[in-house]
Amino acid sequence: MQHNLAIARRHAGGAKVWAVVKGDAYGHGLARALKGFADADGLALIEPDYAVRLRTLGWRKPIMLLEGCFDAADLQAALRHDLQFAVHNDEQIAMLEAAPPFPAMPPLPTIHLKMNSGMNRLGFRPDAFRAAHARLRNVAGIGEIVLMTHLANADDPGNPRLPLARQLRCFEEGLRGLPGRRSIANSAADLQHPEALADWVRAGVMLYGGTPCATPAADFELRPAMTLRSEIIGIQKLTAGDAVGYGSHFVAQQPMRIGIVACGYADGYPRLAPTGTPVLVNGVRTGTLGRISMDMLIVDLSGIDDAAVGSPVILWGDGLPIDEVAQAAGTIGYELMCALAPRVRIEDV
Ligand SMILES: *Cc1c(COP(=O)(O)O)cnc(C)c1O
Repeated sequence: MQHNLAIARRHAGGAKVWAVVKGDAYGHGLARALKGFADADGLALIEPDYAVRLRTLGWRKPIMLLEGCFDAADLQAALRHDLQFAVHNDEQIAMLEAAPPFPAMPPLPTIHLKMNSGMNRLGFRPDAFRAAHARLRNVAGIGEIVLMTHLANADDPGNPRLPLARQLRCFEEGLRGLPGRRSIANSAADLQHPEALADWVRAGVMLYGGTPCATPAADFELRPAMTLRSEIIGIQKLTAGDAVGYGSHFVAQQPMRIGIVACGYADGYPRLAPTGTPVLVNGVRTGTLGRISMDMLIVDLSGIDDAAVGSPVILWGDGLPIDEVAQAAGTIGYELMCALAPRVRIEDV
């Protein structure tokens, strides 16, 4: 995590770096993130209760809430614990206007005013942005207002529906010279689009060693922060015509040896991974066979003659990029990381 953060900073061109730790640090655990990202300029996340936990765990640098405060209690917690937060709609501005007077002592809360520059998820439209800014500026006791937006296609800048360049232009035009620091880039922009770096970048998946785009993570010198391991707990010898697993989806065409691995969707392994999804057994690449079940999956041991009960299995991580497994399963590395289940034993190395 430390190494990947250094890569993010190397690309950031002097911009400050938020390490994004939402979703329990993309499944890696807040306490681990706090150590791994000690050099970050701040930690950004969605969950107000986790943000408070970061303070309790001893994080003194900036913390920001990427979707802002969901209710008045969050706002009070944000003020009490010195949390920065996004403001993306009129209701959140109204919440600030209605809040009891902010403590007169510094630091005044920093707010990240979000523009919808084309993604059409959160934020004020460009033609409403300046009015929102003025309204916010009128709330007594507010500190810096950072100008923020989020990119829909930093991983696919030529997307004809919303090219990256158009979104950046839309953001600049919507600001029309408003003063303030800017925050635009996610991992994909940090790694590939210097024109989007601005004053703060918000790096997420890359910090955990996942790629945010079609380029393999290793090409950016990113390293997997998480390796999901298990073992072979059973072996079966099949003859031609034998079927394996629920639904009997895989049928052996010839005699073969298969291994039963103690890992399933209750561990966060994707149930929709089809036959052939890559797995390492004894360091040798092979593939899954048939359906993934709750606690087990089945692998092809053809050509891995030394594989036996107890042989080590890597589902993703060291030697097997999570993005390859994700792609085989029709999803992205982000989802696999975040879905890691609580029952998986964690061993810090
Ligand atoms: C999650 C998130 C990020 C980080 O995105 P990655 O693609 O993981 O780098 C950045 N900004 C916002 C607003 C986010 O919600």
